[in-house]
Amino acid sequence: TDTTLGLQENSLDQDKEYVGFATLPNQVHRKSVKKGFAFTLMVAGESGLGKSTLVNSLFLTDLYKNRKVLNAEERISQTVQINKYTVGIEEKGVKLRLTIVDTPGFGDAVNNTWSWKAVEEYIDLQFEQYFRDESGLNRKNIQDNRVHCCLYFISPYGHGLRPLDIEFMMALHEKVNIVPVLAKADSLTPSEIRKKKMKIRQEIERFGIKMYQFPECDSDEDEEFKLQDQELKDSIPFAVIGSNILVESKGRRFRGRLYPWGVVEVENPAHSDFLKLRNMLVRTHMQDLKDVTRETHYENYRAQCIQNMTRMVVMERNLCNRLRESASDLPIPLAPVESETERLIWEKDEELRRMQEVLQRIQGQMQMSNKDGF
Ligand code: GDP
Repeated sequence: TDTTLGLQENSLDQDKEYVGFATLPNQVHRKSVKKGFAFTLMVAGESGLGKSTLVNSLFLTDLYKNRKVLNAEERISQTVQINKYTVGIEEKGVKLRLTIVDTPGFGDAVNNTWSWKAVEEYIDLQFEQYFRDESGLNRKNIQDNRVHCCLYFISPYGHGLRPLDIEFMMALHEKVNIVPVLAKADSLTPSEIRKKKMKIRQEIERFGIKMYQFPECDSDEDEEFKLQDQELKDSIPFAVIGSNILVESKGRRFRGRLYPWGVVEVENPAHSDFLKLRNMLVRTHMQDLKDVTRETHYENYRAQCIQNMTRMVVMERNLCNRLRESASDLPIPLAPVESETERLIWEKDEELRRMQEVLQRIQGQMQMSNKDGF
């Protein structure tokens, strides 16, 4: 062939490749531009499906420099871990603090029942942290670690979704924006990709899994935009290809995979949906993914928290009242018991007062943040 293997990862910086997030200011209010953007992307799916390679290809940086790939023996005893990598990238003066949350070990065990639990706990923990910070005093400088999107990798070798895929998505679809991707699409022919996508979409529908929904396009948008939007929606799950190397062919250098029979270009729309996915993630829908996280997933979490706290306040109040009633029924000579009861009532009253204070503060802040729109 006339192709030669190009330079390795560290030479990528010299090549003028653009991720495309410089368009972010158009997606949001100007006041966020100065601060920079923060985005957290989770990648989940069985190991070996090309998650780290895709992330490196998407953001043109080597996020996994210090990763240790476990051998089979180590993997058997390993439980699902959560690894976090953060990089600051800047493009045309626009700063992005990108956090990648990886879930090594997911799907690797002999028995994978509940293996999504660690991921769920992680997502909940970030909501909890945000909830605490938001109810605290330093509200202006909250670091937002909530997961804005989860790319879920589906194996290209199976017949549609596997039980573990279904379990994962059903457990998490109300907590995070799930975007399914069909991994290593270069191992499938175009007609296989079409059939697999259709089967996966049907299964997603059959199991009532709620994927991230692209927002409806405004009716006044031009026809071309509407067409692109529809194409994006019809591409689910995105068939993706990743590569850590640059290939040189016919005077061009590009990210690709070199095979004895030819080259696969990561960014060629005829070869994969990689560009569609990257454009969607960074150019067109990053802000919407953040909005849906805040307005839907986090709101659900917060409503649940407030409901639980209110329930506790009511329970504590009832307990207090019962204690008071039984104290008044007691015969007068039992002074020590009475003082013990008083202490209990006092403690409960205090607890109740504190909880009510927190609740009031949260409700006040909810009204404020609704007004701010952020
Ligand atoms: P991870 O464990 O999911 O993070 O997977 P890796 O990114 O480490 O990739 C596992 C193996 O698959 C490596 O040998 C990669 O070179 C290879 N790989 C990654 N992406 C692709 C792809 O799109 N197509 C093919 N055929 N192989 C890939």
